[in-house]
Amino acid sequence: MAVVLPGAAKPKILIVGAGFGGMATAVHLKRDIGAEVTLVSHRNFHLFTPLLYQTATGVIDMDHLAQTVRPQARAHGFRFLEGDVTSVDLDKKTVQTSFGELAYDYLVLAVGSVNNDFGVKGVAENALSLKGINDGKLMHDRIVGAMEMAAVEKDEATRRALLSFVVIGAGPTGVELAGSLRDFVKVMAKDYPEITEKPKVSIVEALPNLLPGLSAYAVRKTTEALKERGIDVRTSSKVVEVSKEGVLLLGGELIPSANVFWTAGVKPAKVVESLNVEKERGRVKVDGFLRVGGHPEAFALGDITYLIDAKSGRRLAETAAVAVQQGKWLADALPDLMASRSVAPFAYRDRGFMLSIGRHSGVADLHWLKTSGFFGWMIWRVVHISLISTSRNRLGVAFDWTLAYFNTRNVAHTEV
Ligand SMILES: Cc1cc2nc3c(=O)[nH]c(=O)nc-3n(C[C@H](O)[C@H](O)[C@H](O)COP(=O)(O)OP(=O)(O)OC[C@H]3O[C@@H](n4cnc5c(N)ncnc54)[C@H](O)[C@@H]3O)c2cc1C
Repeated sequence: MAVVLPGAAKPKILIVGAGFGGMATAVHLKRDIGAEVTLVSHRNFHLFTPLLYQTATGVIDMDHLAQTVRPQARAHGFRFLEGDVTSVDLDKKTVQTSFGELAYDYLVLAVGSVNNDFGVKGVAENALSLKGINDGKLMHDRIVGAMEMAAVEKDEATRRALLSFVVIGAGPTGVELAGSLRDFVKVMAKDYPEITEKPKVSIVEALPNLLPGLSAYAVRKTTEALKERGIDVRTSSKVVEVSKEGVLLLGGELIPSANVFWTAGVKPAKVVESLNVEKERGRVKVDGFLRVGGHPEAFALGDITYLIDAKSGRRLAETAAVAVQQGKWLADALPDLMASRSVAPFAYRDRGFMLSIGRHSGVADLHWLKTSGFFGWMIWRVVHISLISTSRNRLGVAFDWTLAYFNTRNVAHTEV
């Protein structure tokens, strides 16, 4: 515990970003550490991204994924300010925000990532990505709008493109989106007697396997499940351009589509560019104590960091699991680091992973348990609902899932 002398100002801890990492730090920091804790973030809610694709596919109301921060601030004794951090000056220990300058004694930077199109031509103009809360709504409108247009389209080739849905990038997000999308268009098609063709869902991956980096069990079971659901799985297929006509692959093949969804990768949020520190592929290099090089009072965590896992020897991936564990570790370690006491470095505990591939279909590889199908799907549901931190959101998602289970999804084309 830091010692604050009577009359002395309390040290200021500034956390930037109310995502998985920033919230875990703010919520787990003990109230009695004798510091003034402030969290600044772009919006006053924490987005539960693992279920975002289900807003695109009409399952979940997007408001149910926005977990408000202020009640947590009140309960855990930190201050919340809504605003954008535009730059960080590590030498002066200040950040510039949309509402003015803030000074800190300790900084925790957890601003997450943004979509990365890797410079592929036409992605920004012709594909939709899934990152912020409105992205799910945009995708939903695109999917439902395409069905409405297909219902009145006379030209066969145009109708086929409208009924073709292509997901680019077969990481966990792409796979889950493709599976849920297939269920969504299948349910919707019943209400479109004008449409006689079957909507087609494709998933395209540049590498030889789906789910790069995940276990062979997960790759095999997921590939089988997607194919069983009639999804066109394209591996070793590098996308060179996305245009209004569809997706052009290396080698010249065009997959005609009016609905292209890009889930192929992320890069650190823009403010990271303002940091004059050592980086690797744009990510901030941190040491085992999550400190930013040369600045023992500045920490970074989550998607923006580059850290090799001591156990596996591999770079820690951009996942909520990593960000949360880092946030909790930092909340525990910070009082000791502030008081120059020794602490054990951060060590990631890999608990495995799980995926939902659509109704009654999931894959879970928890190391001690490997399962798929209905049981995998149930485990995924139980775990995900338990990870939602507020009762309002948890109940909202449970309600949405119940409706969707009985094939009642949001199919309104509310685009204005
Ligand atoms: C669609 C989707 C599905 C995913 N599914 C899973 C999953 O199933 N399991 C899993 O483990 N991971 C999943 N992830 C990855 C996971 O969301 C991220 O790894 C995790 O959110 C990273 O946490 P973070 O704290 O680094 O950043 P984030 O959680 O992204 O939080 C960053 C916060 O910083 C704020 N911010 C950004 N820039 C600024 C700024 N300049 N000023 C102020 N505030 C700012 C943002 O608004 C946000 O609140 C998914 C990601 C996506 C996009």
